[in-house]
Amino acid sequence: DKIFSGFSKTRNNLAVIDELLLYWNLADTDRVLDELEEALLVSDFGPKITIRIVENLREDILSGKLKSGNEIKEALKKNVLELLTRKGSKTELQLGFRKPAVIMIVGVNGGGKTTSLGKLANRLKNEGAKILMAAGDTFRAAASDQLEIWAERTGCEIVVAEAEKAKASSVLSQAVKRGKEQGFDIVLCDTSGRLHTNYSLMEELISCKKAVGKVIPGAPNEILLVLDGTTGLNMLPQAREFNEVVGITGFILTKLDGSARGGCVVSVVDELEIPVKFVGVGEGVEDLQPFDAEAFVNAIFM
Ligand code: GDP
Repeated sequence: DKIFSGFSKTRNNLAVIDELLLYWNLADTDRVLDELEEALLVSDFGPKITIRIVENLREDILSGKLKSGNEIKEALKKNVLELLTRKGSKTELQLGFRKPAVIMIVGVNGGGKTTSLGKLANRLKNEGAKILMAAGDTFRAAASDQLEIWAERTGCEIVVAEAEKAKASSVLSQAVKRGKEQGFDIVLCDTSGRLHTNYSLMEELISCKKAVGKVIPGAPNEILLVLDGTTGLNMLPQAREFNEVVGITGFILTKLDGSARGGCVVSVVDELEIPVKFVGVGEGVEDLQPFDAEAFVNAIFM
């Protein structure tokens, strides 16, 4: 399984826990929990979540609820699973009933936005949906060429800017209009991803969102933020900012086939209360999977 191999680094960092718990006894609790804390921090869980998990375990150990190393390990996994699912349970796309549904894909350059859009198109098309792509990254010249390759690869139609320096919002609104007139089920909108600290990008995303909503009330149905799984806790401020500006409905975590940093996934989901909807596990057209929290927890803790 690709998600399993991708988390080898996180898994190695966390492997120390098994050894600790094998020899755990009550008198040893403080030392064991200190080392557990260290292992979680090294694995990018972030201080807030780490402290919460460790204190939960301490309480349950001292009250006698957890009586063996094995039980502690299971409780640890259950804690993490709960953090991931309690606030982020709606992992399926919520596309409403108006056609076409509109999905905007946002994120900083290089994170895997265009690739994820292509893979998502393939996935939805295989489920029977008629897909239209919209090349909304009008800032980077090569972006629309790249998306056209994905359109060809997946057999989907695409709307690109007619003129140079066209506004992203007008490309998207044109695409959604066409989607409506020609009976498409879903319009997948690419957007620009120049540095997220760039104020005008955020302005642009807001105007894209508005333009789409003018054509179809309630659209976009989903705004998915693409996060590079190898960036670790740096993804947190990024996610915060995009969410404040446009309101994110779900994450796509990419590059989980490489040396992904597992713990920060838990931090981001917990803090923003936004679910991970898909994970990218490679560069191929089939390499996008729905997020499975249980498989994730099993992949990082063995
Ligand atoms: P964008 O600038 O956000 O649109 O990013 P791209 O879609 O162009 O992706 C940037 C690079 O990351 C490309 O080389 C992609 O092939 C690669 N990439 C994207 N998603 C994944 C993934 O899930 N796994 C791997 N290994 N590479 C990915």
